[in-house]
Amino acid sequence: LPKKHSGSDNTIFSEMTALAQKQEAVNLSQGFPDYEIDDRLKKLLCEAAEKNFNQYAPMSGNPLLIENLIEFNNKRTIPISVSKENITISPGATYGIYTALASVISFGDEVIVLEPNYDSYVPAIEMNGGKPIFVSLNDDFKVNFEALKKAITEKTKAIIINSPHNPSGKIWKKEDFNQLSDLVENTEIIIISDEVYDILTYDQNEFYSAFHHPKLRERCFSIFSFGKMFHITGWKVGYVLASPELSQAYRRVHQYLAFSVNALAQYALAKYLEVFEPKENQKIMQQKRDFFLNEIQDLPFTLNEKAEAGYFQILSFKNISELSDKDFAVWLTEKAKVATIPVSAFYHDQKSTGNVRFCFAKKEETILKAVENLRRYL
Ligand code: PMP
Ligand code: GLN
Repeated sequence: LPKKHSGSDNTIFSEMTALAQKQEAVNLSQGFPDYEIDDRLKKLLCEAAEKNFNQYAPMSGNPLLIENLIEFNNKRTIPISVSKENITISPGATYGIYTALASVISFGDEVIVLEPNYDSYVPAIEMNGGKPIFVSLNDDFKVNFEALKKAITEKTKAIIINSPHNPSGKIWKKEDFNQLSDLVENTEIIIISDEVYDILTYDQNEFYSAFHHPKLRERCFSIFSFGKMFHITGWKVGYVLASPELSQAYRRVHQYLAFSVNALAQYALAKYLEVFEPKENQKIMQQKRDFFLNEIQDLPFTLNEKAEAGYFQILSFKNISELSDKDFAVWLTEKAKVATIPVSAFYHDQKSTGNVRFCFAKKEETILKAVENLRRYL
């Protein structure tokens, strides 16, 4: 059978979660919460079934969900003004990224990827006939705009960006978007902006969307996920913001890929947006990050920078072991019974980085158990 992409047959997230289960290790690898979700969400899902949201939803999304997303985006700390022409509900962000790519790239087009990058980007480019062009982020995970400029050719169709960033938690600042905008001015390049950790920003860090930028918003897809926003990664629902023209291109593909998205979930999400307080989730997650950082203080890992946002913290293990990061992550799971993700998995050449990524979106007792296990071995 044809191999349609250069990705692995088993993603690093599935691999490490399976290993964690086999080894009965604490799983701080794949990014999913192990704590209870808001009860109101559960009740709304039951209400949706009772109210008979059991048949196909409209192709672009449940109208109430779209209306409430318009309001939600307007009420952000830095408002994003959108209308229904800009919003399409998607079955998760992975699908949103794939479909955005599928709707704009043709065979042979180049798509620039800033690495380390989320693992679905490259297979999604390749499955649509595109060619990934890699540009490394700087050591502090900021963009090297000089390198990015050099990577742009006549064949560049799109650039995929990710802020807040997985795995580093780095956030693009307004100035970064200005620089990107200057770079792509007078080109036809499309920006695909993965923004799934939008509301989970910590300390004084503000979230900027590519869609905030007056020039970029005409040429970008901004992609969001309720999975991370509401701690419900298994629901697999998100949404895509794009200009009316790009939304139309997106829907042209979407109507033949998924057509529409789970109607029960859409109803529940629409109603939940009416009561949801983003600041509460932000606070819960910042407490989790701080709890994790405080607990690991006396372990021999090195913290280069606190995560500014998201679910993850990168730590260096260079003082602990000379193993490759993949071997170290396997060793840590098997011996210390704590599973993490080797950061090399986010690079196309998979070269060892000396870093592993911990997911802190966990109950305090899970974090405490992980730290206890690590203390025993390190
Ligand atoms: N992009 C990034 C950066 C992610 O970390 C994830 C995982 N939540 C996704 C996309 C995929 O999101 P979803 O589960 O909604 O497909
Ligand atoms: N986004 C999650 C992570 O980075 C994983 C999602 C998945 O397993 N594909 O851990």
